[in-house]
Amino acid sequence: MAQKSTIEWTNATWNPVRGCTKISPGCKHCYAMTFAERFRGVKGHPYEQGFDLRLVPEKLGEPLRWRKPQMIFVNSMSDLFHPEVPGEYILAVAKVMSVARWHTYQVLTKRAERLGRLLQGPLKFAANLRHIWWGVSVENRKHGVPRIEHLREASARMSFLSIEPLLEDLGAVNLQGISWVIVGGESGAGARPVRKDWVISIKEQCRRADVPFFFKQWGGVRKAKTGRMLEGRTYDEYPAREHNEVLPDEERLMYAAAMEESVSRINSVSA
Ligand code: SF4
Repeated sequence: MAQKSTIEWTNATWNPVRGCTKISPGCKHCYAMTFAERFRGVKGHPYEQGFDLRLVPEKLGEPLRWRKPQMIFVNSMSDLFHPEVPGEYILAVAKVMSVARWHTYQVLTKRAERLGRLLQGPLKFAANLRHIWWGVSVENRKHGVPRIEHLREASARMSFLSIEPLLEDLGAVNLQGISWVIVGGESGAGARPVRKDWVISIKEQCRRADVPFFFKQWGGVRKAKTGRMLEGRTYDEYPAREHNEVLPDEERLMYAAAMEESVSRINSVSA
């Protein structure tokens, strides 16, 4: 989508897939859906088809075209592990990330079972790479916490949790094998409230487990007003990033074109 992002914990977004469907209570006020649906029917707009899921093969090579190392949130406007995204296409996305290794990737899903299965199978090579961070969203105990077990089973080198929107006290969370935790309250119209003690409980558990903690926001109807201070300070911790060499221009551009060509025959599910 863009090389710049306003999301606090990343600096670029890349959307080789667009659109998604709701799966759990954390999706209730999905910002991506609200944004995309605004443009349904607008001729020539990337979201002309609203939030209907579709592949965007012409965006597949984008990270290879970005020379400057970025922290990239993969599919900020979708969910890579959605059942309608063909496995072959997910594999192509993983290959691009493995080759464009001068970036750091943050792949976040609510489809944790599929992520776990694929990372133990055809995506094993990508699970072992330190510059690709694999994460699951955790909004509550019933739907969110079980995703952590699927993520752990995947045994990725870098695993993280996005605990947002935090909808209730999660109690004791098993942070074994987790490299990073983001916490945030919901924002926008109809935002469900977050309580300070729920946030502090997670922060304390991260401290005890020596896991970097990032507090994104309190949220609410006007998030700029509530800010992101917790007990008098901000928490902007990250795990250490791996720094890799940028491929020569000719090589990376050739690879981008070849990858896009190779996936152009995979049928987009709804386009
Ligand atoms: S999984 Fe994510 S992108 Fe998909 S509907 Fe839910 S919040 Fe939106």
